[in-house]
Amino acid sequence: MKNVTLADGRNITVKCLSCSIVTGDVQPSGGTIYETTFFHAHQDVAYPIRGLVILASKRHITCLDELTEEERINYIHTLYQIRKAQREVLGIEHVYYFYNEDTTHHFHVWMVPRYDWMHEFGRSVESVRPVLLHARRNRNHTNEVEKTMTAIHELREYLGKFY
Ligand SMILES: [Zn+2]
Repeated sequence: MKNVTLADGRNITVKCLSCSIVTGDVQPSGGTIYETTFFHAHQDVAYPIRGLVILASKRHITCLDELTEEERINYIHTLYQIRKAQREVLGIEHVYYFYNEDTTHHFHVWMVPRYDWMHEFGRSVESVRPVLLHARRNRNHTNEVEKTMTAIHELREYLGKFY
């Protein structure tokens, strides 16, 4: 069992945080953005970036080559649907995608929208971690958190039409 402190300060004990989130035992702050038979989308609100989405496998796996054929097909369709929602609902022009297989969570991809304030951290992969840390440390104020929560609701509403 692991002790985990969530973004909103809740302290929980779980065997696997991802399993608990996809089964609904633990509600991420802001709730579920979208889910299919195989995948679950939510936001880690510890990083108040409007439109950031984490798409995770429901199965307890970590690598892309562990996905079944059905999951692979569903993955790209789900990723596409969320990306389309980010553009149509939130006007997001570019998204950075990041995933690592040596994760302590399930197979998951970070979909990080690109905003003008991020340019000072450079472009491409080297900017991803500094951008996330900057958001967590310096943009964690009411205004940004509210925008982030509103975006979660807008994405959920849009994506709800497809499931
Ligand atoms: Zn798990």
